[in-house]
Amino acid sequence: STEKSLNFIEVIVEEDIKTQKHAGRVHTRFPPEPNGYLHIGHAKSICLNFGLADRYNGKTNLRFDDTNPVTEETEYVESIKNDVRWLGFEWENEFYASDYFDQLYEYAVKLIQKGLAYVDEQTSEQMAAQKGTPTEPGKESPFRNRSVEENLDLFQRMRNGEFPEGSRVLRAKVDMASPNMLLRDPIIYRIKFAHHHRTGDKWCIYPMYDFAHGQSDSIEHITHSICTLEFIHHRPLYDWFIEKLEIFPSQQIEFARLNLTYTVMSKRKLLQLVNEKFVTGWDDPRMPTISGLRRRGYTPASVRAFAEKIGVAKRDNLIDVSLLEFCVREDLNKIATRVMAVLDPLKVIITNYPEGQTEELYAENNPEDAEAGHRTVPFSRELYIEKEDFMENPPKKYFRLFPGGMVRLKHAYIIRCDEVIKDANGEVTELHCTYIPESKSGSDTSGINVKGTLHWVSVPHAVEAEVRLYDRLFTVEDLAAEERDFKELINPDSLQVIEKVYVEPWLKQATTKDHFQFIRKGYFNLDTDSTSEKLIFNRTVTLKDTWTK
Ligand code: ATP
Ligand code: MG
Ligand code: MG
Repeated sequence: STEKSLNFIEVIVEEDIKTQKHAGRVHTRFPPEPNGYLHIGHAKSICLNFGLADRYNGKTNLRFDDTNPVTEETEYVESIKNDVRWLGFEWENEFYASDYFDQLYEYAVKLIQKGLAYVDEQTSEQMAAQKGTPTEPGKESPFRNRSVEENLDLFQRMRNGEFPEGSRVLRAKVDMASPNMLLRDPIIYRIKFAHHHRTGDKWCIYPMYDFAHGQSDSIEHITHSICTLEFIHHRPLYDWFIEKLEIFPSQQIEFARLNLTYTVMSKRKLLQLVNEKFVTGWDDPRMPTISGLRRRGYTPASVRAFAEKIGVAKRDNLIDVSLLEFCVREDLNKIATRVMAVLDPLKVIITNYPEGQTEELYAENNPEDAEAGHRTVPFSRELYIEKEDFMENPPKKYFRLFPGGMVRLKHAYIIRCDEVIKDANGEVTELHCTYIPESKSGSDTSGINVKGTLHWVSVPHAVEAEVRLYDRLFTVEDLAAEERDFKELINPDSLQVIEKVYVEPWLKQATTKDHFQFIRKGYFNLDTDSTSEKLIFNRTVTLKDTWTK
């Protein structure tokens, strides 16, 4: 623990180990509610919880916080497990808060028996009217001082399904005058005749979040229960239940949630984007979801590096998405295979190269990785280069191609532009060039020095592909600071499809696990929509941070 300074949570954990709290044990959990796909904010929490366990020889549970029967689905459970594993973590136990429904019911009974919970029959409006304000105490419910026996009987009958939804709740008897509004006799159980994805129709009463979360931590003997800052005011209640129930004292620790520029980070909003077809699904490459990032070509290492770089804050903040892009660029620079693809083609004819001849040129796969090996790239008389790599009337210091100018073709030869062919509208349609046979890469004896190197693809060997270029999904940096609805701020140009580009034939063997650098064009990966008939590539990120406000 010397290579970096400790974050405030590590300080707490190290102190607990030193004082042998819980025998020095570290047991964390990641507790997603299975009501959507995980996003980059969850990734931060995953890296934090599993990272602490790794660092301190501890364990991490994956616990599905599935106490709300209405919003949860098995599809989400599967996607969450897949995403956690993809990030590189394996949980000690897979648990479901719904497995604790019996235990939680017993806890509620215990509170009633201690005179610390009561069944309230008022309407929610009546209860709200009694809540008071932060500066004025609330009013006690007329049902607050019911006998233990009556409460036990009514709670049992709530469970039996004898009362309609909304007619009764179980409340904890804490303090109607507390300055913390959450302690003013919070509701801990409500009636809901809803089918649950795991417990089916066994229950018609369900515990509220505050009555389920801390107790679940306690049941699992979680030592450090890390959550986001919104829960700071819930902590006294978390501790109150533990104290009154006399159960294992898990400790809640809050940190600031991750917010990213140019995106939203709430499952509810992400679900709206999916349902209302602003994106193609949870894994749309523009989504800040883990599945979206994966499909976009992000690597697990880059997401982990990002989580590490942003650190652990105690105050809410907004992280620039370009930091995330920096992290993936750094990782892809190390691992991506360098290939050639022409996105906007201009034909070049090498007039002194024999017709029908093909040469296989040596191309190293990754100059950053000696182990990456090489492949060959076919060269012939007809090539595509990028349209933007030619200018008829270039400015000074233009190192690409122009009439009379010379460039090197990557892995190949130096060529000179001799003639510009145009159509009736004056559009350049073709360049006629000559190549210097002695200038072959790796064995150049020409003595000619050129400044520019262009990527290219051989026309007869070229493979057609589609590429998808992405921009920010939203037009403003800080969506939380906006009064307009987030759906009014969607960037209409967040996806640019180029239906026909040319890539080198080697890319026919690409898989969705591979990462490529299209030389000079960015990092790309094969999209899951791709087929052997139609290759489709996503641009993960540009080569440099070229994005300007
Ligand atoms: P959302 O509002 O996006 O639905 P949530 O907090 O309701 O998020 P949960 O499934 O309850 O989603 O989250 C599981 C865990 O991930 C929680 O411990 C939560 O604190 C953490 N988490 C969620 N969003 C973020 C975020 N933006 N930054 C850091 N941690 C987060
Ligand atoms: Mg939650
Ligand atoms: Mg939520």
